[in-house]
Order: sequence, then C-alpha cells, then structure tokens
Amino acid sequence: MADLASMDKIVALCKRRGFIFASSEIYGGLGSTYDYGHYGVLFKQNVKNEWWRAMLSERDDIVALDSAILQHPRTWEASGHLAGFTDPMVDCRTCGQRFRADHLRDLQCPHKPSKHPGEGPQCDLTEARDFNLMFETTMGPVKDSGATVYLRPETAQGIFVNFKNVLQFSRKKPPFGIAQIGKSFRNEITPGNFVFRTREFEQMEMEFFVPPDEAPQWYEHWKRARMEWYVELGLRTDHLRLREHDADELSHYSSATADVEYLFPIGWSELEGIANRGDFDLTQHADYSGEKLEYFDPQSKERYVPHVIEPAAGADRATLAFLVDAYDEEDVPGEGRTGDTPSGAQGGEQRTVLKLHPRLAPVKVAVLPLVRKDGQPEVAREILAALRGRMQTEYDEGGSIGKRYRRQDEIGTPFCVTVDHQTLEDRSVTVRERDSLAQERVAIDGLGDLLASRLAAPWRSPKLTGAS
Ligand code: ATP
Repeated sequence: MADLASMDKIVALCKRRGFIFASSEIYGGLGSTYDYGHYGVLFKQNVKNEWWRAMLSERDDIVALDSAILQHPRTWEASGHLAGFTDPMVDCRTCGQRFRADHLRDLQCPHKPSKHPGEGPQCDLTEARDFNLMFETTMGPVKDSGATVYLRPETAQGIFVNFKNVLQFSRKKPPFGIAQIGKSFRNEITPGNFVFRTREFEQMEMEFFVPPDEAPQWYEHWKRARMEWYVELGLRTDHLRLREHDADELSHYSSATADVEYLFPIGWSELEGIANRGDFDLTQHADYSGEKLEYFDPQSKERYVPHVIEPAAGADRATLAFLVDAYDEEDVPGEGRTGDTPSGAQGGEQRTVLKLHPRLAPVKVAVLPLVRKDGQPEVAREILAALRGRMQTEYDEGGSIGKRYRRQDEIGTPFCVTVDHQTLEDRSVTVRERDSLAQERVAIDGLGDLLASRLAAPWRSPKLTGAS
C-alpha cells in the first residue's frame, strides 16, 4: 500500500491536534527544538512506559537509574567524547551555511534546492573539519576555564560512572543491566526532519553487563528483543529492518553494532543502535578515576571487567516512527448525523486517523453524549468518572457527533463511548472502534472491564497487508 504519511502531513497533524509545536514559536522558533503539547506528552510517555515495561517489569535482571545531565568533565575525557565526538563539517563561502560533510547527498543547497550543497555552480565549500557536538556551559558564578561543563550527549556514560554504586546496592551480578531514560543534547550541524534529528532529545538506553565470553550471545539476544519490541507495539514489519554495520562503520570501541531501521518518509533511517561495546567504557573510567570497575565472582574467585551490550534508542524518534506508521487517510461512511442515533450513515467522507497500538494511544476512550440535553451529559459524566481512574479518558460534548469522532480519530483514540436516548432507557451505550468503525451496544455495567480487556489484547496494524 502506498504510504500517505509525508513529513509535512505529520507536522501539520501534530500542530493541529496539539502533539508537538516548534519551540519558542512566538519568537520565530529556535533551530530544531520542539515542545510537546498535551497529546504529545501522553503519547511519548506511553512509548517510554512501554520501554520501562520491557526493561523492568517483564524482567528481573535490569535496574533503573536517573543520572544527572551535568557530570564531572573527566567523564567526557574518559569516554572519548571530548576528543572524538565530532562530525565532519563544511562551510559554503558563498551562502555562509554549514553542512555535515557526510550528509551532503541528503541535503539541499539553500540557493538551488534541486541541487545538493557543493553541486551548484556558485557553491564554494571549504575542506571538511571536525566539529565537536557537545554543548558547553559554565558551572558556578565564575566563568573561568576550570568551570566548563557539558550537557551530556548521551545517557550511557551516567550509567558507566554509577556501575560500582549499582553493583553494591542492587545485589545483582553479571549478566545484569542498568536502564535509563533522559534528555541528551547534541549540537547537530544539520538537524532536521522534525523530531527525527534535534539538538535536545530523549534517549532510552540500557547497558547490559555480561561475563566476557557471554557477550556474543547477549548481543544476539538484544538485537532480537529490541526488534520484537517495535513489532509488538505495532510497527509494520515491512517498514522495519535490522542492519548490521560493516567493519568500516564501527566505532573504535565496538566489535559489532546493528541498527534497527524504520522506513520513514525520508527513507530507511536509524531508530535504535545495538552495540557490543566490549570492556571499553568500564576500563576507561577505571583508568581515569582510579576506581576499580570490575566484578569479583565469589564462586569462581575470578575478577573480571564485564563486557557491555547496549541497546540505545531515541524516545522522540520512536514516537515519530509510531506516528508515521499509524497515519492513514481513508474514505468512510458518514457518521456526521446529529440526530438521535450515533451511527447514521450519510454519504461518504474522508478521515485522517492514527491507527496506533491501543497501548500507545494518548487517550484510550472518549465519552460523548449524542446531544447536550435530555440528561445525556449527566450520564456521560458518570461514565467518565467511572473510567478515568482505570484508563486515560476524555469527555467531549462540543459539535456534531461526526466531528467529534473525526477529532478522536486524529489523535488515535481506540474507543468512543456514545450516550444516546436509549442509554436513558436501558443504561446501554454504543462502543465505536476506531479502525473498523464497528459499533456495538453494551451495558454500562461492565463497560470498564470490557474496554480494559480490549486494550490489553494483542494488536496488529490494520495497515499491514499480506503475511509480512
Ligand atoms: P545518527 O547516526 O542518526 O546521528 P547516532 O548513531 O549518533 O544517530 P546514537 O548515539 O546511537 O545515535 O544514539 C542512540 C539513539 O538516540 C539513536 O538511534 C536515535 O534514536 C537517538 N538520537 C541520536 N541523536 C539524535 C538526535 N539528534 N535527535 C533525536 N534522536 C537522536
């Protein structure tokens, strides 16, 4: 099926429905930072909750951490970021713009957008030079040279520097993991494509510490587990792939890395990296700090530096992938009648709908009185009160029922519960299902249990055709 989700449509929907706004928009925006509105917050939180669920609730060999964004500057010396966290940058002497030298083929010349930078007759690019992506700031009131600190460019180093603390207090032994979600900052040379590449973003990273000889098998385990996570949450399998890095792509510390890639409107792009980092990080921090960062096995009396397998994902990038994957436009039978039944079919109309996995949907249920009179709002509010403690529920009485359904479709609400005149007679309501548009009449008693069980059921994208 042709994909209808262009990046422009996604950006427009996000703004229209209050998912994501350009940051400081009233001042003209700030290069590539974004603010999440109400539905965006709920949605991204659900993505993060699902990650925590997979890392913590469904396993007992991983513990959580929330380390500081500002860390001792030696952290970044030891990790190699100060010397080597760079991207190659070129300037154009004609237009004065800067570009990432290894991304020129994906970029447009500002003077002649049909060409890539360097291809136009007027382009005059400098030689590539290394640009460090870490943001610098100053700690304390005196701005002297010793006060320079960095906004972390990844959450992982906060985990490595806490290895000893966690080992002591968690009563874990390898293989075990430390997981963290938090903000990271990179002064990207050419950010863009909405929240795909921004300068401030959230990462979901887990460092899994293993006995050295078990590293290859855990690397395989985490590649599998992370692919399954995206599939279980509904990403279409024909839009998802795992790509093993070639030897010349590998970071100096990594013996193997694979990327989970998604077919975004901009083409196949990285969603998450899974790397076998060996003992590089713990060895470096041990050297720089003077602390022993190793594990002593009391049974075998062996002392060793664990090796690390790291699945590193972006919360914003994953959220964008789920959005793109869910976006659909289709013709549907009219549901716009304001009469006394919620299901009147009146000619066709177009709808935009987010076919999100119910667990990711920002709102699970919308409760809608068909009319704003005859006691219907009161019953609808009673249902709202009963449901809202169990699932994210919204009440909406404004506008025609068709408009309200369309609005819920656009934010991906899996179920609409409609109160009508029959509800007042027999305490039944209609439940409308987002993807199939099926409506069924059910009793108010037991509605919460029914919806909870449907929300917990396995789900597959209705956009996924065939057996893939
Ligand atoms: P890329 O090659 O796209 O720059 P990377 O390989 O440098 O990414 P990692 O350092 O492996 O990325 O970070 C792990 C994850 O963090 C990425 O897979 C991505 O989901 C997310 N991420 C990295 N940089 C950004 C960014 N600038 N904006 C949004 N998400 C990002």
